Amino acid sequence: MSNSLVLVINSGSSSLKFAAIDAETGDAIISGLGECFGLPEAEISWKYNGEKTAEAIPAGGDHHQYAFGRIVKLLDSLDLSSKFVAVGHRVVAGGESFKGTVKLDEKVVEEVARLAELAPLHNKANAAGMVAAMEVFPSLPQFAIFDTAFHQTMPPKAYIYALPYELYKEHKIRRYGAHGTSHFYVSREAAKMVGKPANEGSFITVHLGNGASISAIKNGECIDTSMGLTPLAGVVMGTRCGDLDPSVIEFLMRKGWDQEKIFTTLNKKSGLLGISGKTSDMRGILEAVEAGDEAAKLAFDVFTYRVAKYIGSYIVSVGEGLDAIVFTGGIGENSMPVRHAVLDYLKVFGYVEDEKGNEAARFGASGQIAKSELFNSVALVIPTNEELVIARECVERL
Ligand code: ADP
Repeated sequence: MSNSLVLVINSGSSSLKFAAIDAETGDAIISGLGECFGLPEAEISWKYNGEKTAEAIPAGGDHHQYAFGRIVKLLDSLDLSSKFVAVGHRVVAGGESFKGTVKLDEKVVEEVARLAELAPLHNKANAAGMVAAMEVFPSLPQFAIFDTAFHQTMPPKAYIYALPYELYKEHKIRRYGAHGTSHFYVSREAAKMVGKPANEGSFITVHLGNGASISAIKNGECIDTSMGLTPLAGVVMGTRCGDLDPSVIEFLMRKGWDQEKIFTTLNKKSGLLGISGKTSDMRGILEAVEAGDEAAKLAFDVFTYRVAKYIGSYIVSVGEGLDAIVFTGGIGENSMPVRHAVLDYLKVFGYVEDEKGNEAARFGASGQIAKSELFNSVALVIPTNEELVIARECVERL
């Protein structure tokens, strides 16, 4: 183990991910996940030395606090706690306040909590994770790494909504995007794969996980992204609706729906889950499609069609010199049928699928899955590694 071990914390609304990452080698010494907080099936699990362990979290009490305490005990028992050089926190929304990684202090934590208005499901949990970690590791430098930071290079024409301009000036209502750490990482890896310096590579990065977003990257800088003021906009997600006519909200209000019901429906009951009526998980959707389920097929079609439309529009954004379309995230890294369906729409841009390549790029394998002679461009699969970016950001700033 080198001298650059970083504890990476990703505190979500009902989950807590952690990993001890060697920023030099990229190895995860231990990684784990507490999930289903607040529910009877809450548990915490981790992988160490290739072995997986899972424990139930007792009912009652604050599950975030319990999980954090358990993680610290675990790290102590493995003699790791004293070896960390820093703690890195993933934060979803940095608004216009944070354009890059910052060292934590009380003011930063306060601002992260205030920005919960931009990411209600995430930022409060991020701030709570910071407070807990600062209590447990008071002498370690801690950093916040923002999901929005990579998108701060977008030009106004990409981030300004066509609303009265005062709404931007007064309330900072604009497009911020998210998943920036992932878009940054895969675009850098893609540049290596196509043999270009990072600041010369132009890509469309397609992050498809439970949350999903697509970015246009020109000469290494983000110039557009599909998520908006909050992570609700853009493509179809596991439970989030993505782009929607804003009038739907007013329509539902006139039907007597209150703010809470609308918020819950759009964030937690829509997307793949909403259309299929069955599951938010792409594996479940694919199984149901195989079994002839029409609602699941519709969910699959809406999902893949929208992804392809976004890629098409970002081909316009990037303009000349698109080096590659890059698939990542749980679905992008693993689902051959999803990539196949998207690539089928992209035939119009000359992309020809390499079926063997598409079959081979799964379960952590990178690879080329299509090529366009027309654009002198390829489509790639690259597994993302947000934890490694966070660990490296911390070490760079030390
Ligand atoms: P998160 O946004 O929570 O980090 P992930 O990036 O882990 O999510 O992606 C989760 C999604 O990836 C789920 O929809 C899951 O079904 C999908 N997925 C994972 N493995 C596969 C696979 N082999 N085939 C299809 N989809 C997969």
